[in-house]
Amino acid sequence: MSEEVDEERAATADRDSGGAARTPRVAAGIAAAVLFAALATVLALTTPWNPLPGDVPGGQVRPDPALDFSPAEIARSRAFDSALNPPAYAGLATGLVLVLVLGLTPLGARFIGWVTARTRRWPLRVAVASVALTTLLRAAGLPFDVWRESVLRRYGLSTQGWAPWLGDQLKSLAVAWVIYTVALLLLYAVTRRFPRYWWTGAAAGGFLLVVLVSFIYPIAVEPVFNKFHPLPRGQLRDDLLAMAKRDGVPVEDVLVADASRRTTSLNAYVSGFGSTRRIVLYDTLLKSPRPQVESIVGHELGHAKRDDVLWGTLVGALGVSGAMCLLYLLTTSPRLLRRAGVGPEPGPGRAGGAADPRSIALVLALVAAGTQLGAPVQNLVSRRIEARADAHALGLTRDPSTFVSMQHALSVRNISDLSPDAMEYLLWMTHPSGPDRIAMARDWARMHRVPEPPPLRPPPS
Ligand SMILES: [Zn+2]
Repeated sequence: MSEEVDEERAATADRDSGGAARTPRVAAGIAAAVLFAALATVLALTTPWNPLPGDVPGGQVRPDPALDFSPAEIARSRAFDSALNPPAYAGLATGLVLVLVLGLTPLGARFIGWVTARTRRWPLRVAVASVALTTLLRAAGLPFDVWRESVLRRYGLSTQGWAPWLGDQLKSLAVAWVIYTVALLLLYAVTRRFPRYWWTGAAAGGFLLVVLVSFIYPIAVEPVFNKFHPLPRGQLRDDLLAMAKRDGVPVEDVLVADASRRTTSLNAYVSGFGSTRRIVLYDTLLKSPRPQVESIVGHELGHAKRDDVLWGTLVGALGVSGAMCLLYLLTTSPRLLRRAGVGPEPGPGRAGGAADPRSIALVLALVAAGTQLGAPVQNLVSRRIEARADAHALGLTRDPSTFVSMQHALSVRNISDLSPDAMEYLLWMTHPSGPDRIAMARDWARMHRVPEPPPLRPPPS
C-alpha cells in the first residue's frame, strides 16, 4: 500500500472522528479533567506537606551524615550506591525504551500478531498477548536484576541462593500474568461491547479493581513470597499491643514475615485496610533492642492511625480512573493507532483500532509512560507521609535518642544512600534518607524540650 493512500485513509478517519466520535471524546476529556482534579485535591488536602508543624527553637537541624555515621560507613554507602546505580538506571532505561518501541511502532502489534497467529477467539488472543508481552518485558529486565542481585550478594545483603532467587522472579512474573491478564480481559471486553463509551466502564472498573487488589493483596499476594506467623506470646508482643492500645489504633495481631530467607535488611510495613490490615515485622528485626522495635512499630502505627494505605489506595484508584479516560482519548487517535500498526479501520476479518488485541502493546506503552511520569509525585508525597509516621513514632515513644540509634542501625544494615542526589530523590526515594530522618528527630526533641540526641560520632576534641 502506498504512503499516499494510507494518508488519505487516515484523513477520512480523522474527519469521522471529528463528527460522530466527537461527543464521547469531549465527555472523556471532561471526565479525565474532573478525575485528575479530584486526585490533585485529595493529594493537596491529605498530604502532610509539613510533617512536623510548629517552630523549631534554634532553627531546623540540617541533615548531615558526618554527625552520626563513621567515615567507613559513609564510604561503604557511597560504594554500594555507585555499584547499584548502573543496573538500576540501565534497567529502567531498557524497560522504558523496549515498551515504548513496542507500543509506538508497529513492532509490538507484529509481535502480538505472531504469538496469536493460531488463536481465533479474542479473549484467548488477549490472554496470550498479555502473557507474551509481560514475559518479554521481564526477560529484558532480567540481566539487570541479576546484576543488582549480584551487588546485593557482594555486600552481604542477600541471603538467597540463585535457584530460590529465580523462583521468586518466576512467582512475581506469575503474579504479573494474573493481574495484567485479568485487567486487560476486562478492558477489552468493555472496549468491544461499548466502542464509544467503554471509558466509563473502564474508569469505574479500574477504580474498583485497584481497591480490590489493595484489599486482598496481604492475603492473596504476600503469602506467595513469604510465610507469616503471629509474633510469639511474650513481653515484646504484650508491649507492642499495649502501645497500639495506648495509641488508640485497634491492632489484633502483629505478624512476622520470614524475610531472613531472602535478605539481611531490616524492615516493617503496614498493608491492606479494614479487615485485611496488618502490621508486619521482618524476622530480621526481632534481634534488635526492644526500644528500637517499639520505635519502628510506632512508625507503623502512625501509618495505621492515619489510614495511609486506604488513602493511597483511593489516590491510586482515582489515578487509574482518570488514566482510563486518557487512554480512550489516546487510543482513538487515528495517528497514534497508525503509528502502533493497528490502523483505525477494521482489517479483513478482525476488529480494528482499540478493540484489536494487537493494540495491547500500545496500551502497555501508555501505561508505562504514565506510571513513570507519575512516579516523582508519588515519591514526593510518600516521603512526606513517611516523615509524618516518624513524627508519630516520636510522639508515641517520646524517645528521640532511640529513634536516632534505630535510624542509624537501619541505614547501616540496609546500606542506605546517606546523601541521595536530586535524580535519586525523584526516581527512587519513597522514604526520607537516614540523615533526613535523624535531623527531624532532633527537630522534634528541640520542639518538645526533650534532651536533643547528641551526635553518635562526637567530633574529636
Ligand atoms: Zn513507613
